[in-house]
This record gives sequence, C-alpha cells and structure tokens, in this order.
Amino acid sequence: AAQTMEQLVSLCKRRGFIFPGSAVYGGLQGTYDYGPLGVELKNNLKLAWWRANVWEREDMEGIDAAILMNKLTWRYSGHEETFVDPMVDCKNCKMRWRADQISGKCPNCASTELTEPRPFNLMFKTQIGPVPDPESFSYLRPETAQGIFVNFKHVLDSTSRKLPFGIAQIGKAFRNEITPRNFIFRVREFEQMEIEFFVRPGEDEAWHKKWVEDRINWWLSVGLSRQNLEPYHQKPEELAHYAKATVDLLYRFPHGLEELEGIANRTDYDLGSHSKDQGALGLKARVSPNSHSTDKLTYFDPETKQHVVPFVIEPSAGVDRGVLALLSEAYAEEQVKPAPAERLKPVEEALATFLKSVSRNEKIPAQAKEALLAEGERIAQAVGERLPSIAGLLSMPGAESIEVAKKLRGQVDPVVDEFYRTVLHFKPHLAPIKVAVLPLKKNNPEIVSTAKGIRRKLQSTGSMRVVYDDTGAIGKLYRRQDEIGTPFCITVDFDTLGEGQDTALKNTVTVRHRDSMAQERVAISELETYLREKMQS
Ligand code: ATP
Repeated sequence: AAQTMEQLVSLCKRRGFIFPGSAVYGGLQGTYDYGPLGVELKNNLKLAWWRANVWEREDMEGIDAAILMNKLTWRYSGHEETFVDPMVDCKNCKMRWRADQISGKCPNCASTELTEPRPFNLMFKTQIGPVPDPESFSYLRPETAQGIFVNFKHVLDSTSRKLPFGIAQIGKAFRNEITPRNFIFRVREFEQMEIEFFVRPGEDEAWHKKWVEDRINWWLSVGLSRQNLEPYHQKPEELAHYAKATVDLLYRFPHGLEELEGIANRTDYDLGSHSKDQGALGLKARVSPNSHSTDKLTYFDPETKQHVVPFVIEPSAGVDRGVLALLSEAYAEEQVKPAPAERLKPVEEALATFLKSVSRNEKIPAQAKEALLAEGERIAQAVGERLPSIAGLLSMPGAESIEVAKKLRGQVDPVVDEFYRTVLHFKPHLAPIKVAVLPLKKNNPEIVSTAKGIRRKLQSTGSMRVVYDDTGAIGKLYRRQDEIGTPFCITVDFDTLGEGQDTALKNTVTVRHRDSMAQERVAISELETYLREKMQS
C-alpha cells in the first residue's frame, strides 16, 4: 500500500490518472480532472458497484435524477438550515478553516488567535433562468439522495415494487468545502454512489446491520483489505438529527483513518419531510411542516391494507474516495532484484545534497518545504527500499526550483529502471487497461501486424480495454504497464512467426502476469478464453 499521499499524487499525474483542475489558469482549489487512465478506473469502480447493487440484487432499481432540483427540496430536506460546517478565521494570516478539523491552531501560520466558530452553509447557490429575480435560484445538489426521495412514488408506481426494496443512484454532488484537502479525498465537486433502501418500520435495525455487512464485503471484493477497513458506530451525540444510527466505514488512507462510506438509518424522516398531510401519516421522525408538497410519499401495504411511510437505510459512498482507496491499496514499490551498494551510494549522496539545498532555499514556501523535507527524510532512512519514491519527491511543489534536482534524477532513473518497479496491484476487473499487446521488435512489419491484429481481435470482444504499445524496449514497456496496473501483457516475438528455434511455438505468444511477473506461452487462438478465465479472479 502507499505510505504517503505524495506517492499517489505523483503517479496519478505522471501516468494520467488524475490532474489538478484548471491547471493552465493556476488551478481551482478542490477540483480534480480524471485523465485517460483515471476515467477508466473510476468507470470500472462505478460499474462494479452498479452490477453488485442493481443487476445482481432482486430488490433494487436504479435512477439518474437531475443535479438541479426545485429549491424547496433543500428547504424541506433540512439542508438550507442545517447543512453547515463551523468556520473559523485566523486573525493573523486571514486563512479560513473548518473548526472541527484543526486543533485550536492555524495550520498555516500556527497562530492561536482564531475567531469564534460560525456556521457556513456548504451548498453552492446558483441562478436559474435568464431573469435576475432574487427568488429564481437553486443549489447544486450536495448529495444525490434527495433525487431518490422525491422520485420514491414514481419508482414505486412504475415498477410495482413491494417492501423491502431500494433505489440506487450514482452521480455528481457539490459541496463548498471550507478547506478542501488531501488530494481527491475532500473536494468541492465529487461523485456519490448512494442507495436508499426502504423497509417496514421495525425491520430497520436488522436491515441496517445487513447493509453494513454487505457494504464491507463489497469493498473487499474490489480489493480493499480487511485490516485497512474499520466500521465505526457513531455515538448518540455524533448522529445527524435525522439518523437513528449510523455506521461509518473508515479506510486507512495515506493521511489517516477516515470515512469512505456512511451507512445511516434515516427512519421515516426523508419521505415524511417531503410529504403532504404529514399529520395523518403517523411519522416517527420529527419533521418540519410541509406546505408545498403535492403528494403523500407512502406505501400501501397489501397485507395490512394500510398506508405506511417506510423507514430508510442509506449506504452512501464517495466514488472519489473509493478511487483513492483503490489506488492506495494497490500501490507498491518493489525491488525486482537487489541493487548493489555501489549503485545506491551515489543516489544516497545526491539525495543528501538535494535535501540540503531544499532546506537552504528561501524561495520555497514554508509548507512546501516542510513536506519536501519530511518525504526526503523518509526516503533517506532506507533508500534501498524506497528508491522509486524519489520520482514522487522530485515532482512535489518546490522541487523543480532546486538546481541539483536534475542531478538526482539522473542518478535515480537508471537504478530504478534496472532494479525496481512501481506496480498497482488492481483486481483485474478494476484495472484501467486489461491487456497490453507489445511487439518484441517494432521495426519488424510482421511482428507489428500480428500484434495489432491480436489487439483488434481482443478489443472486438467488447469486454476489456486492450492497448498496443511499441514506444520502448520490452523491459521498459512491462514496467510501464506494471505502473498503471495492467494485469496482462502479451508479447509477439519471432517464435510467434515460426522463425524462432522452436517451430512448435508458431502462433503462440508470451503472456506476462503483472503480480508474479511469470511468463507463459499461450496459443493465439486460445487467448480470449485464457484471459477471460484469469480475469475472473
Ligand atoms: P465528511 O465528514 O468527511 O465531510 P460526510 O459525513 O459529510 O463526510 P456524507 O454526507 O455522509 O459525508 O457523504 C457520503 C459520502 O460522500 C462520504 O462517505 C464520502 O465518501 C463522500 N463525500 C462527502 N463529502 C465529500 C467531499 N467533499 N469530497 C469527496 N467525497 C465526499
């Protein structure tokens, strides 16, 4: 797993998983763009969730509701009034912070002179329509859940579902976070995968428990390990006002143990809040009187012949936090063979010179300098094990302004190439690219056309992303695919053409496995079946 966030940030940028948003204009804090590999990884994660929670269950429907909703939604959901974080200002450097995320001290300048916390609403307000009427506004949704609640009746009527059943949705959500940080962990625009699972009152506690188990198992199925995943039962005083009980699934991210998903028992609060005739519904939750809703969000129970307002269990996961967890879990820097001391020595010296130069440099801002030195020290303590991390170190803010950085890179690159690899051990179904087809010689037309033909054929099965790559020597190409988590590489060589020593190898290729680096010979005609089988794991 990754030891530091820098390792992931650097790899993500270098290889095209995730870029800082709007970079050519100096960026926009709290936004990130998914690159060519990031979009594949994210799509695979969402697809795995949708498969498990919609297709493979018999009690679920999916929807995709609008991001913009009538502003009354946010009044009756309680967000206008209560979707706030406590904000403090530093009187010294004027930075703003979320009071519950700092411990009485400004993280920027260490001053303890802070204002009293005041509530700050996290919703983005936006004008609707061309007329500048002060009433024509709404908010970008801060969660996808409300789109499900207001569609409860539509889904019920159009599908004739019986309780218990759920509605699932994946989509964007926006929060004007006071201090976005920790890469894609806390951002202002993100995606959620949410389920609202409707049950009979009284059956809610058992279903809540079941959902916590199901969700843990699902995260394990995408490759997170049990020891990095921790269910946390919120204490009564921590519960949101609508929740009867909440279990957070915490994940050991590089920056600490933090929430990946929340699973709440929201009782009949939401459906009750958005209903008309609330007084006649026998609600258990305390809701604000609703004078605008045009419908009763109830379920007619055919057994008891009564209208009931179902209770709701809500498993709500962040897609971006999921992607971060997958990357972190999958990340490894491995020694392919031991590097001899005489090759490490010059690297150690160049690293020491680099760090000295960083600590003397007065142009690097204090925070960036501190981060650089901390990461540098971590690597310096065991260069032999952590050498590949130097690439990350050199791409951190401030590093580029150091003259001796180039020298350090020059020392590191050849040693890394020869003795190390960085690898992402993704489960195959999540890997952005499943197979890379590589020609042993890119100037041999027959090898190239055979390789391209294999790529086309595998791609045409429609079940996996397959790429062709001839931009380097074979060893380098393997390392590059390791680094982006491609589980299989296929190499076409002279044996494939029947021009090698062993003519029995004609029409076979080498399949190289990412994790074990083992190689096997497989007939081209059997490749598809072979890969499909291996991909299951
Ligand atoms: P936190 O306490 O970390 O701010 P939260 O408890 O407010 O999170 P929920 O309202 O429960 O979060 O949202 C459900 C899920 O949405 C979270 O578990 C998280 O995965 C994701 N999420 C919430 N806020 C953000 C954000 N700013 N950036 C990325 N993901 C987020």
